[in-house]
Amino acid sequence: MHFKTRAIHVGNEKCAATGAVVRPLHLAATYVQPGAGEWGEFDYSRSGNPTRAALESTLASLEAGCGALAFASGMAAIHCAMGLLKAGDHVLAGSDIYGGTYRLLHKISSRAGIQVTLVDTTDLASVEAAITPATRLLWIESPGNPRLTITDIGACAEVAHRHDALLGVDSTFATPVLTRPLELGADLVMHSATKYIGGHSDLVGGALVVRDPSLWDELYFVQNATGGIMGPWEAFLCSRGLKTLAVRVCEQSRTALELATWLSSHDRVARVHYPGLPDHPGHDIARRQMEGGPFGAMLSFELRGEFAEAKRFVEATHLFQLAVSLGAVESLIEQPASMSHASYDAADRKKHGIADGLIRLSVGLEAYEDLQQDLEGAFGVL
Ligand SMILES: *Cc1c(COP(=O)(O)O)cnc(C)c1O
Repeated sequence: MHFKTRAIHVGNEKCAATGAVVRPLHLAATYVQPGAGEWGEFDYSRSGNPTRAALESTLASLEAGCGALAFASGMAAIHCAMGLLKAGDHVLAGSDIYGGTYRLLHKISSRAGIQVTLVDTTDLASVEAAITPATRLLWIESPGNPRLTITDIGACAEVAHRHDALLGVDSTFATPVLTRPLELGADLVMHSATKYIGGHSDLVGGALVVRDPSLWDELYFVQNATGGIMGPWEAFLCSRGLKTLAVRVCEQSRTALELATWLSSHDRVARVHYPGLPDHPGHDIARRQMEGGPFGAMLSFELRGEFAEAKRFVEATHLFQLAVSLGAVESLIEQPASMSHASYDAADRKKHGIADGLIRLSVGLEAYEDLQQDLEGAFGVL
């Protein structure tokens, strides 16, 4: 079956009891056991819940994995992945990553004696050079956040495996519609389901998907032991969101490409970061690893101006609402230096190219013409 068909039918088999075409929402915390010391399919909802399990089977199918795990948030999913590591292990992570991942690695994982290094993962020689004998996990994002850098997932998998490390990919921006990292050699895919999977800014959730059953067992053990599970209501909404994921992502990406093209010829714009533009340094890899395009609905651009101009700009749009988060049907705008990446140290922001004049857009499902006019209006206040 094709992706769009699996998104609707896998994990959404009709209800055996009633014939309902939408799976019921199971809110029960606990399940009657067949006998003392005997276990049925479900026993306690932290350990397993039918609504969550249905979502996990859809996600596993869409990411070409053997199994998935759904979490209370994207950060809970990443935290679970870091639970694979022990004191003395080293994580090598990309420098163009989510601000919260940076914070988790540097301020929480580090407390447990896990070593962290950031590296520009678009440069494979640097990745290779930064690997140490203690490196157990390479953690990347493609497209990256907020500069939309493109990392070659297949090549990183090869480097990681040569050094007996796992490759984890935060694929929140790409979604399984555009990129399936497990097919490219990654061991583990992570999503903030808050973003495209939910798609409507009305839930917080996360997911991990893997292709090796023993890795799934290890992660399941950590999830069940630490408890950061997704609740049934969020799982229900995510399952609903997945049914329209492909049409949303393709349509939003089309509008993003049009906006990126228009912005790149605007005289108030110094630079546009969008992998769909032919002059983006990662364009050729993106073509390969994003199925020839579309290239996603996230883009960022640098104003000809500094912190104050970018702040004025993001405060001047109306349809693009000033908020962190991304991936939903409504368009959002933000200034990474003061918002999504405020948890980076200022020096690290500078080192990793997150300029004060950088603006990030999450392009929603509104009409291109209205979004373009909205941005044009904001240029007027500069
Ligand atoms: C939002 C986000 C996260 C964190 O997910 P939450 O659901 O907010 O915990 C991680 N990675 C990326 C790329 C994100 O955009």
